[in-house]
This record gives sequence, C-alpha cells and structure tokens, in this order.
Amino acid sequence: MSNAYDVVVIGAGTGGYVAAIRAAQLGSTVAVVEKQKALGGTCLIWGCIPTKALLEHAHALKVVLDAKDWGVILPAGVPSIDMGQVHARKDKIVTGLTRGIEFLFKKNKIDWIKGTARLQGQGKVEIVDGETQTLEAKEIIVATGSAPRSVPGVTIDRKRIVTSDEAIHLNEVPTSLVILGSGAVGVEFASIYRRFGSEVTIVELLPRLVPVEDEAISAELEKSFEKQGIKALTGTRVTGATATANGVELEAQTPDGRTQTLSAEMLLVATGRGPVTTGLGAEERGIAMDRGYIKVDEMYRTSVPHVSAIGDVITMGKGVHPQLAHVSSMEGIIVAERLAGTDVQPLNYEHVPGCTYCDPEIGSVGLTEAQAKERGYDVRIGTFPFGVLGRARMAGETEGFVKIVADRKYDEVLGVHMIGPRSTELVAEAVLALRLECTVEELVKTIHAHPTFSEAVAEAAHAVHGAAIHA
Ligand SMILES: Cc1cc2nc3c(=O)[nH]c(=O)nc-3n(C[C@H](O)[C@H](O)[C@H](O)COP(=O)(O)OP(=O)(O)OC[C@H]3O[C@@H](n4cnc5c(N)ncnc54)[C@H](O)[C@@H]3O)c2cc1C
Repeated sequence: MSNAYDVVVIGAGTGGYVAAIRAAQLGSTVAVVEKQKALGGTCLIWGCIPTKALLEHAHALKVVLDAKDWGVILPAGVPSIDMGQVHARKDKIVTGLTRGIEFLFKKNKIDWIKGTARLQGQGKVEIVDGETQTLEAKEIIVATGSAPRSVPGVTIDRKRIVTSDEAIHLNEVPTSLVILGSGAVGVEFASIYRRFGSEVTIVELLPRLVPVEDEAISAELEKSFEKQGIKALTGTRVTGATATANGVELEAQTPDGRTQTLSAEMLLVATGRGPVTTGLGAEERGIAMDRGYIKVDEMYRTSVPHVSAIGDVITMGKGVHPQLAHVSSMEGIIVAERLAGTDVQPLNYEHVPGCTYCDPEIGSVGLTEAQAKERGYDVRIGTFPFGVLGRARMAGETEGFVKIVADRKYDEVLGVHMIGPRSTELVAEAVLALRLECTVEELVKTIHAHPTFSEAVAEAAHAVHGAAIHA
C-alpha cells in the first residue's frame, strides 16, 4: 500500500467519511485516519443513532402502556423496559451501520488507516498511535469532531456525573435524573428516561427550554413536559455538583438569586460539546484557531494552504457553527467537490434544519418570529394544531402545531417551526421551501395528501392568509 494519497481525511465521523466518499467518487485516491475501533464518529457510535434507537424503545413502551386504548390485551401487571434487550437492539443497529461504512470504503477504494493522526506540515500526516507510519497528502481534510464538555463547578466522573457518552449505555434506569442543559441532547434524554421510569428534572440557565427554538415551541414543550411529569427549572444556574455514595448533590441559583439544593441518583451534563484538537498539531503547523476550534473560511480553507477542516471542529468566525451530522456531511461534500475543481457554492446556514427528537418532536428551519421582527420584516404568522387532523387522531398523537413565519410584503416563507408528531420528517418540505424562496401561496397551492400529518403544513400556510380550512 502506497503512503501517498490525493486526499487524507482525519476523522471518520459524518463529516470525514462523507468527504472521503465524495472525494473518491470524483477520482481522488483517499485515506481516512480514524482512532476509534469503528467508523462513523459521534453520530453513529455515541450520538444520533444510539439516542434515536433509545427513543424508539421509549416510544414502543408508550404504545404498550396505552395498550387498553388500542384494544390490545396484555397479561396482568405493569409493562416495563428490559434494558438488556434495549442495548442489544441498539448496539446491533449501530454495528450494522458502522460496518456499512466499512463496506462503502471498500467499494470506493478508500484506505482506513487505524490510529491517531498528527499534522506534520508539508502535506505529511503522522500516525502516532496505532499503525505507525507517515502519510503524504496533496490535500488534508481535518474532521476530528467534538467531545462533551462540562460547566464550572461540575466535574464529570462518568459514574454519577455523566455525559451523553455514558447515558446511552446505562444498564439500569436511574430512579432520579437531573439533566443539565435543555438543548437537543438534554431534552431527548429527558424524554427517554422519563418514559423508562426515571424522575427527571431539567436545569436550564436560560429562561426557557430549547432556547434556540421559536418561543412558541419552547412554551409548547414545557407544557407537554409538565404533563409528562418532567420538571423544568429554567433561569437556574448550577454552581456545583458533588458525587456521593448514593447519588449526586447539586447546588443551584434560582432566578430570584436564592440557593437551591437538588439531589438525584445521577446527573447528566448536556451543556454542549467542545472541539477535538488536542495532540493534532494544528497550532504548531500555524493553523489559525479560536478557543480550540479550527478557523475556516466559507469554503472550509484553514489559514494553511492545502489543509481544510469541516464539521464540529470548525468555527467560521460569525455566529455559532451548528454541530449537526447533516451539516458536517454537507460540508464534507462541498470541500471534496472544491478540491476536485467543481464549481461549488457556499452553504446557506440559515437553511439548516434543526431536529430535536424529544417527545413531542421538534423540527424547524429559518427565522423565528422574534428574529424576523428583529430584521425588520412585516411579519405574518400562521399556526395550525396537529390535533385537528384525522391522521394525528388515528395515531393518538395530537399535541403540537406547525407555525409559519412569513413576510407580508412579498409573501415569502421566512421560517417554519413545528412541534408534534413526525415534525423531524415534515421539516424537509419547509427546508426545500426556504431553499427555493417559496411564497406562502406556493405552499397553499401545493397538494398535500390526505390523511397525512403534512396537511398541518398546508393548513398553517392557509392560516398565514387568515383562511385555514379546518380551524
Ligand atoms: C447524544 C448526541 C446526539 C446527537 N444527535 C444528533 C442528531 O440527531 N442529528 C444530528 O444532526 N446531529 C446529532 N448529534 C451531533 C452529531 O453527532 C455531530 O454533529 C456529528 O457527529 C459531527 O460530525 P464530525 O464528523 O464533525 O465529528 P465526529 O462525528 O465527532 O467525528 C470525528 C472523528 O474523528 C476522530 N478523531 C478525532 N481526532 C482524531 C485524530 N487525531 N486522529 C484520528 N481520528 C481522530 C474521532 O474518533 C471521531 O470518530 C448528536 C450528538 C450527540 C452527542
């Protein structure tokens, strides 16, 4: 095997492996260095896939618990969850998908170099731990991703004070769980473990849950969580956490400045993720960095020629770069196409869908009502509840709504925000609408099949014009 490649990718997460496949499809010789035992990175091994598998188990339990409503007769006793089977099924799904990437690497003649990569300069990448060797590359793509991080006063011990990496593997359902942070990861685990039987409390520093979402979505989620028995302490700052023999003691500051003590069997820290660049040698090679993130331009070029970077590890200088699997993959495709000389356009980060798979689900894209007003639009809103739809009633999933934010002057769709059944799927139509700069009228004139959940999108569009048919 030659050590010289057109492209060497460091990291086989959703950014790196997709970049590698596209580069190979476009005719480059490609190697990917990955230090884990499997390909797929955070998304496949610790993130998107295992969490959504757990959520499907939580949903299955919900259906079984409602068996009487469905006319299903169960033996006497209260149904419960078998964590052994849950993990066996989840792990089988993860293994199947990671092996699938190995297959795709073989199909595209991509070499997987097992080990930890370190940049050496002049197009050289040294493998410092694993299959020791030096690779030569015409182009290098850094896609080393991110790892969980904590907040001051909270030290992760991975037993009582855990991150999502541990929370996906718990063999027993904790009787009580405090979750720090109400972003996507925090509220997804709240839904999972509440359904499995834990007493769940979410502590959020900002005044509302899922603070990046439209305010109406946060309010609806808070209402639903309250019904489900998930406690939300918003506007609350955790100042310290101590692991004890039986659990965790937390100190928090309430919105009115009082100190509150909380205790639980376990604390899940879901306060965000930081870049993985330690030991990579990026700074030593003169690559411009910002708080550990690699700085890139809109085409993912770092400050050093022939070194690009994508995914969770990058910052673009303006705003917060979204740490999402589909963003990293799209960046991977763009960078591979640029390196192959294809004419590529920068990604529009305002069209990135946000999907949060809590129960009820959230799907959103574009401007929130507040953001649209801040930008000076004459805003029109249309909202339609899922509960009116026949399809939602059949499924027994009647919570939530679709909200469309539009511009009165040109009737342009500026943002679509939904909470309720299948929202993470339904948002795809909204993403396309924004990409094609659709008007509300175009959504109204698009035929939505009946009976489907998607009728809520069409009705919300009618509602923008003050003329929803079924409300
Ligand atoms: C619990 C959880 C749930 C999530 N759910 C979703 C979701 O539903 N949808 C969504 O879009 N996103 C989700 N995400 C976010 C998503 O997983 C990340 O945005 C995505 O994985 C980022 O991809 P990446 O390729 O940039 O980095 P990563 O996936 O982190 O991959 C980086 C890879 O680089 C390797 N690596 C690092 N340094 C080196 C080195 N020096 N040498 C060799 N290899 C190295 C790592 O081992 C890793 O495999 C979730 C994240 C978490 C934690």
